Amino acid sequence: MAHDTVFDMILAKKIPADVVHEDEWVLAFRDIIPQAPVHVIVIPKKKVGRFAEFASAGTADVGEFFKRVAIVAQKLKLDAKGYRIVVNNGGDAGQTVEYLHAHILGGRGLGWPPG
Ligand code: 5GP
Repeated sequence: MAHDTVFDMILAKKIPADVVHEDEWVLAFRDIIPQAPVHVIVIPKKKVGRFAEFASAGTADVGEFFKRVAIVAQKLKLDAKGYRIVVNNGGDAGQTVEYLHAHILGGRGLGWPPG
């Protein structure tokens, strides 16, 4: 059985988080080590370990997840100036929490290419 990650514990309210949005599909909360003035993590309530697993997920799950990411960014008032969505998948990408999550980064100009 897969072990509980820190995001499982946040979802279960076993550890606190600064929640900015919650609905039937996702939970969104501020990153504990923000990399930009606005840095929010969005997780699906139906657990997925990493992005690669979306290859065998239902299109509703994938679609609703990204729709909710867009809604959260809108709620954070990032639409006008822009923002970046990052999904790290696996070790080379720097995924440290084995629970699929999208980072929403904004509030400053973001460099490209990423490191
Ligand atoms: P990853 O590197 O897996 O793409 O991103 C994991 C993110 O989770 C990191 O940006 C890290 O700062 C954040 N994080 C790790 N532990 C916690 C926590 O306990 N609370 C919150 N809010 N964020 C966390």
